[in-house]
Amino acid sequence: MHAIGIDIGGTKIAGAVVDELGGIVRSSRVPTPVDTAALEDAVVEMIGELEAGERVDAVGVAAAGFIDAAQSTVYYAPNIDWRNEPFREKLEARVGGSVVIENDANAAGWAEFRFGAGRMVSDMVMLTIGTGVGGAIVAGDRLFRGGFGAGAELGHLRLVPNGVACGCGQHGCLEQYGSGRALMRMANEIADAGGIGQSLARAREEHGALDGTIVGGLIAAEDPGAVAALRHLGRWLGEASASLAAVLDPQRFVFGGGVAVAGELLLAPIRESFLEHLPARGYHPEPDFVIAELVNDAGVVGAADLARVWVEEHA
Ligand SMILES: [Zn+2]
Repeated sequence: MHAIGIDIGGTKIAGAVVDELGGIVRSSRVPTPVDTAALEDAVVEMIGELEAGERVDAVGVAAAGFIDAAQSTVYYAPNIDWRNEPFREKLEARVGGSVVIENDANAAGWAEFRFGAGRMVSDMVMLTIGTGVGGAIVAGDRLFRGGFGAGAELGHLRLVPNGVACGCGQHGCLEQYGSGRALMRMANEIADAGGIGQSLARAREEHGALDGTIVGGLIAAEDPGAVAALRHLGRWLGEASASLAAVLDPQRFVFGGGVAVAGELLLAPIRESFLEHLPARGYHPEPDFVIAELVNDAGVVGAADLARVWVEEHA
């Protein structure tokens, strides 16, 4: 049984026909139109193109935002002008067959659970460290969505009372301490302080500002200032993971997104800080901390597999 997965990102729409082992049979990619009507047309066109000559049983569409528990309506999307958008109904009317809508971080987490770094466990937490922090929870072999469908927003777990202001309207969220954007803030602070921040300060002067590529390059070269910024980030992620372990008790934490390419340099401070902050340390079994395996394809593979699961459960 093949399913189509579509991942609507901020800059591109990626789509693929995916087999039941998570393998990509064929794929497609177009820039994301800004206009919502054009975006809908682009998704419909991509589905038509992908299903030509294939036997496809379901379509899963992943997008950033709050999706209702019925996987039908997008309550709110941060990058697309959707408010209470009945996207499933609109797509099903145009393409025929079953369509399910899923939060993009949930889709990526599900793909890791089924086919990537989360295989062999029943309970997993994934944190996607990109510009922001995305979250996904698998509990007892099932994706956790919450009662209204808006659960697992782990980036908005409050970490610091009265901390840095967050785009969600609150203060001190994990996203402000554990994201790519937070890494840039920390790198700038280290650059300002001189000492180990000298290379960061020089790079900032040369390029006008620090960005992910510059800081990532310095981390790869093991520059002490850039590694210190990453370590700071990792320690916050470890502290948040300890709180998550107290609630969810996963066997494995998976870290994805652009910052996770740092690998062990990121995981080491996460593990260290996790153990320092773990409630009942020494008596609580310790989970593994690993890097995501599927990287670019996780959104489409997860969306396709969740659509297949939906069809099987509703057959
Ligand atoms: Zn927030």
